[in-house]
Amino acid sequence: MKEWRNNEPKFPMNNRELLPFLEKNIVPKEWVIELTGGEPSLYEGIDELMEWLSGNGYFTIVKTNGSGNLPKLPKVKIIAAFHKLNEPPRNYDEYLIIDKILCEEKKTYCKEHEIPYKVIGYNKENPDGASHGFTYISFINAAGHGCDCPAKSPSQKENALGTYDFGRITDAPLQKSPCCTSCKAAIDAWRFLPEDIKKRRFELPMR
Ligand code: SF4
Repeated sequence: MKEWRNNEPKFPMNNRELLPFLEKNIVPKEWVIELTGGEPSLYEGIDELMEWLSGNGYFTIVKTNGSGNLPKLPKVKIIAAFHKLNEPPRNYDEYLIIDKILCEEKKTYCKEHEIPYKVIGYNKENPDGASHGFTYISFINAAGHGCDCPAKSPSQKENALGTYDFGRITDAPLQKSPCCTSCKAAIDAWRFLPEDIKKRRFELPMR
């Protein structure tokens, strides 16, 4: 994934485009940022991106396999997926355990080692009926193309230079859509937010 995402010559994801886009379109107090994958620690600009988000007032969760050396920063929470019982993640603030995959054994491990954790539903399930408080959702894929939600694909179009492109964030304004109340992506982000962030009013008017 890293090879394609970072080396694909025409559409590389990079902070030179991403940071100005976020600064222009994403008001820190109105949004939560989730960096996910694939594996975000493989993105070569990840340290700079996390430091910029932390330093500019954003609250960010990073969902990782916990094998990389992501920086520990204020307002950035590292959520490490606990995949293999015999290979617990090294780099984390909290563990993510998927229901039905050695779930009880992993919970026991976390309790014995005093590791905070949350359980999310297997596949598209939501076993505890959890909800979220987001109003809108937006998505930028790992190659820098914006969509109005994670379920959508970027639309194909020519950019201003006549180059065949796929809706890069440099070509289009922020795309966002009302977040479905049952959206599992939103619910599984909400689970990991601190209470003070959950108390924010996300029901803000469209900009
Ligand atoms: S549940 Fe709704 S908001 Fe969430 S990814 Fe699917 S279509 Fe998008």
